[in-house]
Amino acid sequence: MKSPGTEQNVLSRIGVLAIQGDYDAHAEALREAGAEPVLIRKPEELSSIDGLIIPGGESTTFLKFLERDGFLASLRDFVRTKPTFGTCAGCILLATEVTHPPQQSLGVLNATVERNAYGRQIDSAIQTSETQLPGGPLEMVYIRAPRIAKTGAGVTVLAQRDGFPVLVEQGHIMAATFHPELSSDRRVHQRFVDLVRTHLKQHPR
Ligand code: GLN
Repeated sequence: MKSPGTEQNVLSRIGVLAIQGDYDAHAEALREAGAEPVLIRKPEELSSIDGLIIPGGESTTFLKFLERDGFLASLRDFVRTKPTFGTCAGCILLATEVTHPPQQSLGVLNATVERNAYGRQIDSAIQTSETQLPGGPLEMVYIRAPRIAKTGAGVTVLAQRDGFPVLVEQGHIMAATFHPELSSDRRVHQRFVDLVRTHLKQHPR
């Protein structure tokens, strides 16, 4: 049983990698889900946050930027132990293996992710379907989305599209191939905020 005044009272500080992509929409979604968003632009800022969202955008552009100033190495250390949620390009960055074409990654999500897997005709779409989250069907916005082609041990699939996972969880890691920040439904961000809170309780600052 939950005792009063535990998880609910911890205001977690959750970073949003603000190099590129729709980081402002993620920050607003986090606020609505009861967390304090912090825009992260420098590696040293990672030490002040309890969790991180890596937004959508272009994963190759992220990598180019991160390769400067040791940012990639700091981020690699961060994602190993701290809750991190990657959406779309962020999901690509978290995977252990990236294809189409292969590129380097942070390697913490036990999955093979194929970039731009849906081709030009249907590269962007809005779909509504059932997920493992309580509360009924969820709207999912896909923009030049990757496909999680394969998942390995420890990965829980929370939602699928055409038989492939689109929302997954693995311990302190969450990833989505769609853009939850572009819908008004806050259940996905709420799940990540809850994950950060639980993690914070188990590993106090
Ligand atoms: N196509 C992008 C990539 O490969 C991801 C698209 C997105 O984040 N909306 O990095």
